[in-house]
Amino acid sequence: MESKKGTQSYESFPMNGGEGQYSYAQNSNSQRTGADITKHISRDAIIEMLDVESFVQHSSNVIRIADLGCSVGLNTFFTIQNIIDAVNLKSQSQGRHVLDSLELQVFFNDHADNDFNTLLKSLPKEKQYYAAAVPGTFHGRLFPESSIHVFNSSYALHWLSRVPKDIVDKNSDAYNYGRIYFTNEDKKVAAAYSAQFAKDIESFLNSRALELVPGGIMTLIIPCVPPDSKNVFEVAANSMENVLVEMANKGLISHEQVDSFNLPVYMPASEEVKELIEKNGKFKIERSELLYQLYDFKIQQAVDARNGSMEMRAAFEGVLKNHFKEEGIMDEIFIQFEKKLAEATLLFPDPSYRQLGGLFVIKHALA
Ligand code: SAH
Repeated sequence: MESKKGTQSYESFPMNGGEGQYSYAQNSNSQRTGADITKHISRDAIIEMLDVESFVQHSSNVIRIADLGCSVGLNTFFTIQNIIDAVNLKSQSQGRHVLDSLELQVFFNDHADNDFNTLLKSLPKEKQYYAAAVPGTFHGRLFPESSIHVFNSSYALHWLSRVPKDIVDKNSDAYNYGRIYFTNEDKKVAAAYSAQFAKDIESFLNSRALELVPGGIMTLIIPCVPPDSKNVFEVAANSMENVLVEMANKGLISHEQVDSFNLPVYMPASEEVKELIEKNGKFKIERSELLYQLYDFKIQQAVDARNGSMEMRAAFEGVLKNHFKEEGIMDEIFIQFEKKLAEATLLFPDPSYRQLGGLFVIKHALA
């Protein structure tokens, strides 16, 4: 699909919709935990840095908040409420009574094929804001210039706008033969993923820099790999790859299908994210925290194979279905995947596997 300016094509990989057993809404506890353990940092940063009163004095009494890559389920409402609490507290501390005159408008953004129906039907009944859905890719423009005061994006920026072109090109050195992701040894494939991520982050930041009002704030949770940590996602991706190869060996799917399948996500190193924000130059990093340092999280306890498999299914079933179209194949893939994950979690007592994730609070560099 072409973007408005016709410069970049992108693909969309929605999470499982609805509220059924395989839905994202029912299988996103890890992401909820990330939002929960970082909420006080985001809240305090907003209270400290967002000058609500100056926005009201200089433009209007409407404060606009957007959650980018909101998906379906309660996580987005939880994050939005945290931001609203912070805005209200700040506004009160600046002498304004909440119900006095401040009006709040919240935009829920995701790809057009996200299950917005379920999302909008589950909006909190007692909400203090006007809600709107904004369909489209966050790698391009979504809002008018200088219109949003607080942006959030949680667990969404690791989704690439496309599988890196070179890794599916048989003539390229980075051709990812027989694999669906990469390990550290696959330098060329890793570089192709990293380059695509850099390009995507650049377009994301450029668009947001135009849309954020001067003095506005952006909070980002990205499932990045902490320094000196082994990549726990690699273990899940390898398990999935083993499942697909075994199924191809059994003739349930073809080897060509496995060769041409690649996961359209990239878990960057946390330093890589910082460098990209700095290189873009339009934002200043005000806070940066690694999630594993915020509470005592033990990967081996948390990655119960059943939950891990259900969370992977909620997030990746859409991508897999799009590629492997055989009837009933998804159940088989995830039955086998759960078994592989159970074997793989034997690795996790190794303390060099740390929880993925970083929180970045950023502001306009010039503001
Ligand atoms: N923020 C929620 C959901 C994360 S799931 C939470 O923390 O639980 C990731 C979401 O990002 C998915 O719904 C996916 O469709 C969305 N997403 C991925 N790439 C996107 C893009 N380029 N533009 C808009 N949404 C995107």
